[in-house]
Parts: sequence; structure tokens; C-alpha cells
Amino acid sequence: MRFELNEELALLQQTTRDFANTELKTVARRMDETEVFELDVFKRMAELGLTGLTIPERFGGSGFYDQGMANQAACVTLEEVNRVCASTGVTLSVHMSLFSSLLTKWGNEEQHQRVLPKVASGEWLGAYCLSEAGSGTDAGSLVCEARKDGNEYVLNGSKLWITSAPYADVFIVFARTDKAQKTRGISAFIVEGSRKGITIGKKEKKMGIRGSATSEVLFEDCRIPASNLIGEENLGFKIALDTLDGGRNGIAAQAVGIGRACLEDATEYAKTREQFGQPIANFQAVQWMLADMTMKLDAARLLMYRAAWLRDNGKPCTTESAMAKLFASEAANKAAKDAVQIFGGNGYSKEYNVERYFRDARITEIYEGTSQVQRIVIARNLLGD
Ligand SMILES: Cc1cc2nc3c(=O)[nH]c(=O)nc-3n(C[C@H](O)[C@H](O)[C@H](O)COP(=O)(O)OP(=O)(O)OC[C@H]3O[C@@H](n4cnc5c(N)ncnc54)[C@H](O)[C@@H]3O)c2cc1C
Repeated sequence: MRFELNEELALLQQTTRDFANTELKTVARRMDETEVFELDVFKRMAELGLTGLTIPERFGGSGFYDQGMANQAACVTLEEVNRVCASTGVTLSVHMSLFSSLLTKWGNEEQHQRVLPKVASGEWLGAYCLSEAGSGTDAGSLVCEARKDGNEYVLNGSKLWITSAPYADVFIVFARTDKAQKTRGISAFIVEGSRKGITIGKKEKKMGIRGSATSEVLFEDCRIPASNLIGEENLGFKIALDTLDGGRNGIAAQAVGIGRACLEDATEYAKTREQFGQPIANFQAVQWMLADMTMKLDAARLLMYRAAWLRDNGKPCTTESAMAKLFASEAANKAAKDAVQIFGGNGYSKEYNVERYFRDARITEIYEGTSQVQRIVIARNLLGD
């Protein structure tokens, strides 16, 4: 049993940390204020090889996949990116933990050759379209349809809450191919953003991760070649759930990153802010908040690494990913609440970053399955339902 990163992962961590602390730091606050994602950031991550962490080397990936470390590498990187900018964090998380991982695992050779090199190099940014207005937690009830017409499928319907939609180049879309079935009547498709019949709808005005665009995506007689079907027809729901096992751990990494930002900023502040003639760090009430943050974030990180290791080694990890996401997201939200408390009035001001961390942390308990859903998943696997 080893409780330290190996050489390759440690180097990746340092590279990402350096990038985050220099280049990302300068744009994180601006993106939150303007609500505009700066695509240069994505291109820069691509130059550093971060966009290809979950893709095989022969399709332009960075080699971690081939060494059985794709999910561990994703976690290491996502923690560092989210430590500084959660908007960039979710963009990268969807691109690699949802889009690229899914296509790598479930796509065929022709699809790999056609799409993965563009995604690995950052030429294309990927998005993941599962949720709809009427189907969030109950994703299996989605109604967007894909009708087979000769050598093509025709998509009609709309998707909601799609991360990166306005600037994504390629989408994985889940659509109904059999109306008589529920979860067994859904298929997954590659849909290039350039196709006719696809439009990007309303952009949500959000509480947090405001630098990442979240929009509706509409399909109106959007024709795609049958060769864009991923896996087999009606296998889509199984593919979606399997992908979420990895994706949820990406959100655990996001939560750990945001939580660490809260801990580090609050620790620094507590050491310098003086009341009653001494630093507030001397007060036990403040120390206990910092101690609890440290402990919970450490536990969250260990849960996250274990789930990543299991997935990298082809072992079941549904419960472990759910536990990692649930625990990490709750730890991050508590850390954000306490960080604001330690900053006092300054914590409530936009002058300081903890206010942004507080807003950004909230989403980690909602997307890729709410906290209620994670508890359902854990209990179901425990009780054998
Ligand atoms: C910023 C943002 C980005 C997103 N990005 C994407 C994306 O890129 N792609 C994508 O496909 N989706 C995305 N989503 C959608 C996200 O995954 C859903 O919002 C989430 O799954 C919850 O669905 P819902 O919002 O419809 O809530 P609902 O399903 O309506 O849930 C509402 C409440 O009811 C509870 N609830 C529902 N069912 C049960 C149950 N059986 N037992 C107990 N409680 C229950 C939930 O826990 C929640 O508290 C994003 C959402 C947001 C906000």
C-alpha cells in the first residue's frame, strides 16, 4: 500500500499547480465577474497535455491512460485547477472525465481515429448532453429522440444545463431510440457542433462557476450519420451511468480543490488578522474550524484517489465514486462556510476570493447526481437492490 503520488503523477501535479498559480490565477476572478469563459485558458491546458489525460497515447493522449493512471491523473490535475478556478475545473472535467473517457471506452476504432486526436489536442472541446427540462435525476425518462432514417439518425428535442455548450465543438448526446422502453431505449451519439439543426439556446445566469457557460442545446431535424452511434443502439443509459462513475470522481476532485482553496486562504488570513491584540489563529474556536477542514479534506482526497485507482484498474467503483463525490462535496461546502466565517465581514465581500469559493462549492452537491442520489446509490449497493 502506498500513500504517495508516483513520479509521473507528482510531476503532473507540479506542472498543473504552476500553471494554476500563475496563468489561471489572473483570469479566475475576471471570468467569474464577466461570466465569460476565456478559451485561451483551454488552449493553454491543451499545450500542457492536460486535455488528453484520459485518452490513449496513439490518439494524442499524454500517456497516463496507457499506464493505467488516467483517472488518477485526472484527479491530480482537477484538484489543482479547481484550487484556483472552478469554472475552468468543470470545463476540463466534462471534457476529459465525461466526453473523452466515454468515447475512449465505448467508441469504435473509426470514431477514435476521427475524434480523439482533435479532443486530445484541444482543437475540439467536448460537452455531454444528458439532462433535459423534464429529466434530471430521473435521466432515464429523457424524451429527446433519435429516429433512424436509412444511414442516418434524425435528432429532435432539447437538452438543458449543458456545460460549455456555447463554445463546445463536439457533443455526446443521449437520445431515445425506442419509445416502448425506458432506460433500455436510449442511445449515445457523437454530434459535431457544425451539424445543421443544432442551436445553442438560453445561457443560464448562475450562482457559481459563472465563468463556465451552461446552456440549453436544441435539435431540430438534426441529421447525423449512423456511424456516429456510440456502442450499440439502446445501450446509451448503461454507457451514461458507467461514465458517471468516473465523472463523479472528477467532481470529487473539484470539491477537494475548492475546499483546499478555502483552507489555505482561511489559514493565511487567520495568521495575519489580529483582534484583541493577537492573530485570530490563536483562538481555539478558529483553530477547530481549520482542524476540521483539514481532516475532512484529507479524508475526501483519500476517497477520491481510491475510487480513481479502482477505475484505473478495471474494478467496480460505483459505491466508491458516489462516496467520494458525496463526502468531498459536503466537506467543500462546510469548508467554504467556515472560511467565510473566519474572514468575518471580509468573507462577505467580493474583495476576497472566499466569497467566490462559497458560491462555487454549492454546485458540487448538485450536478452529476445530487447528494440524495449518491446516498441512494450507496444504499442500493449495500442492500443489493
Ligand atoms: C451548473 C450546472 C451544470 C450542469 N452541467 C450538465 C452537463 O454538462 N450535462 C448534463 O447532462 N447535465 C448537466 N447538469 C444537470 C445536472 O446534472 C442536474 O441538474 C442534476 O442531475 C439534478 O437534476 P435536476 O436539476 O433536474 O433536479 P431534480 O431531479 O428535479 O431534483 C430536485 C430535488 O429532488 C431530489 N430528488 C429527485 N429525485 C429523488 C429521489 N428519487 N429521491 C430523493 N430525492 C430526489 C434531488 O436530490 C433534488 O434535491 C448541470 C447542472 C448545473 C446546475
